[in-house]
Amino acid sequence: MSKSLQAIRGMNDILPEQTPLWRYFEGTVARLLDNYGYRQIRMPIVEFTELFKRSIGEVTDIVEKEMYTFDDRNGDSLTLRPEGTAACVRAVLEHGITGGGQVQKLWYIGPMFRHERPQKGRYRQFHQIGLEVFNLEGPDIDAELIVMTWRLWGELGLRDAVKLELNSLGTSESRGRYREALVEFLSGHVDKLDEDSQRRLKTNPLRVLDTKNPETQAILVDAPKMADYLDDESRAHFEGLKARLDAVGIPYVINPKLVRGLDYYSKTVFEWVTDKLGAQGTVCAGGRYDGLVEQMGGKPTPGVGFAMGIERLVLMLEALDKVPEELARQVDVYLCAFGEAAELAALALSERVRDQLPNLRLQINAGGGSFKSQFKKADKSGALYALILGDDELAQQVVGFKPLRGQGEQQSIAWDALAAHLATCVVQG
Ligand code: ATP
Ligand code: MG
Repeated sequence: MSKSLQAIRGMNDILPEQTPLWRYFEGTVARLLDNYGYRQIRMPIVEFTELFKRSIGEVTDIVEKEMYTFDDRNGDSLTLRPEGTAACVRAVLEHGITGGGQVQKLWYIGPMFRHERPQKGRYRQFHQIGLEVFNLEGPDIDAELIVMTWRLWGELGLRDAVKLELNSLGTSESRGRYREALVEFLSGHVDKLDEDSQRRLKTNPLRVLDTKNPETQAILVDAPKMADYLDDESRAHFEGLKARLDAVGIPYVINPKLVRGLDYYSKTVFEWVTDKLGAQGTVCAGGRYDGLVEQMGGKPTPGVGFAMGIERLVLMLEALDKVPEELARQVDVYLCAFGEAAELAALALSERVRDQLPNLRLQINAGGGSFKSQFKKADKSGALYALILGDDELAQQVVGFKPLRGQGEQQSIAWDALAAHLATCVVQG
């Protein structure tokens, strides 16, 4: 196939074999968020470029080199969203729904776009489920976010495979003082820093802590620690969070180098990481951003949120063999009909059965075919039972009911009794 007719590198089709697992994951998260009182918001996928520059920060990897930016036909610079927080903040401001201290607990799901080097767990179009909470400043809500994700890992069977890393970046004042101390320290070692870190030292010094370069990492061992620069308020906030995680029994490690890639974080930052996916180890990441709403032109409004990468979590479920067995089967019953009169009766019968059993996964044969070929299709569909309707059955107003997975003999069932019979033998989701 010519290249122009292929999908763009790093942008993947999610094929029918994969969608059941995606839907299971998304459904599990959506139910959980509903149960904790979060409400869904849906933002556009495209926003003004300026929105991301202002909120994410000019000197971040995302804004410097990862955005899909283009001019609209009228000359506006637009960008495919690289993350959800900016648009969510824009939306709540635009609709005034955080005004007057109104609490909002929101979540969203959808594709994000970043021009990165595609590899396992890292794509150019990827999907996130994220959430944002506005107007709650205490550590109780930071804890709730983490407790919810902990419950999610429990439901998915992933608890043993993930680890929580925590840090506090403090208020902007304490972060400012820490930044100065860090710059002073790093300036004494500037010629030993890798090139990226030298640049970041000038533009965004905290990001040096993020380096993957072993020599720079060795220098950082003796660097000042954020924890020593936290003011009382930030320290109490962090202690409050840790006490709540301890109360629920959620294990964590403090990672003083955890700073997160985006500019807007303050106080709590956290990541759920795994060693089951190779280099792409972060499956969920977030933190508090008390200054962001104001920075975007709103009234001072505390905020906290996280986003998880759906591809990475789906990969984990597969890698750890946590795909629920029932996802393998998408059809309960396959209805075969032979000859035109029987086909008409089968269609009418199937609709009656659907009326009575709305959750039944009933596939009706299409395209005719011999007994043998329809049976083959029934078997291949994965159905537990085949229903058979030919001239004889039509005359007697019955259907043949045949177990396909070796549970018992074929029997004859009256049309009127069919729904009741199916209800007893097909477990309904
Ligand atoms: P990373 O360090 O892996 O680049 P990030 O810090 O850039 O992640 P965030 O912006 O915090 O990621 O996004 C939250 C989550 O979205 C990540 O933890 C990850 O699970 C997922 N994610 C981010 N970028 C990608 C990508 N390019 N492909 C797939 N998933 C991604
Ligand atoms: Mg990244």
